Amino acid sequence: MKYKDIGERFIRYAGIFTQSEDGADTTPSSDVQRDLAEVLYEELKEMGAENVFYDKERCYVYGTIPANHEGAPVIGLMAHMDTSNAVRSTAVNPRRINDYDGGDIVLSEDLSIVLSPSEYPSLLRQKGCDIVVTDGTSVLGGDDKAGVAAIMEVADLLLKDPSVRHGEIKICFTPDEEVGNGVMNLDYDRFRCDFGYTIDGGTVGEISYENFNAAGARINIKGVSCHPGEGKGIMVNAILLAGELNSYLPQDDVPEKTEGYEGFFLLMGMNGSVDNAEMDYIIRDHDREMFLKRKEMMEKAVERLNEKYGAGTAELFMKDSYYNMREKVEPCRQIVDKAVEAMEELGIKPIVEPIRGGTDGCQISFKGIPCPNLGTGGYNFHGRYEYVSINEMKKNVELICRIINKFAEQG
Ligand SMILES: [Zn+2]
Repeated sequence: MKYKDIGERFIRYAGIFTQSEDGADTTPSSDVQRDLAEVLYEELKEMGAENVFYDKERCYVYGTIPANHEGAPVIGLMAHMDTSNAVRSTAVNPRRINDYDGGDIVLSEDLSIVLSPSEYPSLLRQKGCDIVVTDGTSVLGGDDKAGVAAIMEVADLLLKDPSVRHGEIKICFTPDEEVGNGVMNLDYDRFRCDFGYTIDGGTVGEISYENFNAAGARINIKGVSCHPGEGKGIMVNAILLAGELNSYLPQDDVPEKTEGYEGFFLLMGMNGSVDNAEMDYIIRDHDREMFLKRKEMMEKAVERLNEKYGAGTAELFMKDSYYNMREKVEPCRQIVDKAVEAMEELGIKPIVEPIRGGTDGCQISFKGIPCPNLGTGGYNFHGRYEYVSINEMKKNVELICRIINKFAEQG
């Protein structure tokens, strides 16, 4: 397949519907992800990549771009093929707008859905650029097909143009990132590299190597139910206890009141009756000490409820989910520094920002492959107002090549 530019490539991938499904008990969570995997597999082979492998059962695509320069580190590039199901749909119809005029964009006439720079000021920076938008009925899936397209372009370019010096490059496309299982079945032997980058962020120039430390907490609360007419001194309403327990936690440490490096407790779900209640929290903090402290606060809140209403009233089950990759990336700072240098050389403003979430890179960082995240040129992810900038995607391809080249030049 020949593409005129990365925009055309992106539109082809975005048009392949690959929504993943929460709570599915299959791997991958949806069969449609294989439709894109197959295309990428064929294209990588056609380009002349080596060790191209499609793990059809688990839905991973691997490939290698052989080194043309001795002594450079092996660098991994990773992006995910699935898209968010935040907007339920069955198809994606990407639309390219060349030389965007900076005005309102009617995504759907019928549904009166308009993408406007007055609501999304980032659009103003795209004036005169080529962008891709949705038809208003689905996400675009720039998260993360803008990353997939960038890696495919980089591969194509490096395989075609021997003048760019580089070490060995390992490529991997993963399924199910959006449902938290992106690297669950990753074959680390096929993706053996010294360090890597996930290409899964927003604007080009973004680089993130700090994510949350994360834990989940389930609390089961026992109440005492009886006939309401005879409740005095007997009834203990588990739902009200749940509310009381929540009031023991710092009330301003919630997602809606925090940003940057501020951590939080989020009550994700609650189920209850007078007789019993269940609460599901997630706990997040970038700072390891604060993270431990937050888990302690949760323990104390449960203890306090038990002291007041009797032992065994509330039971806590807490489990760590993932940790901040910073501790794995910091010892090899050049992974970040070289990327920042490359940005500066290309006139891209580096934006080093903590991620208020986790990434697949954070999980593989703890498996020995430090892996920060780079931008893609996509905006407004997980919604119908999502769009990507083709100009930024082109810049991103240049950036990734430059980073790779810098590591080869340094030897
Ligand atoms: Zn993503």
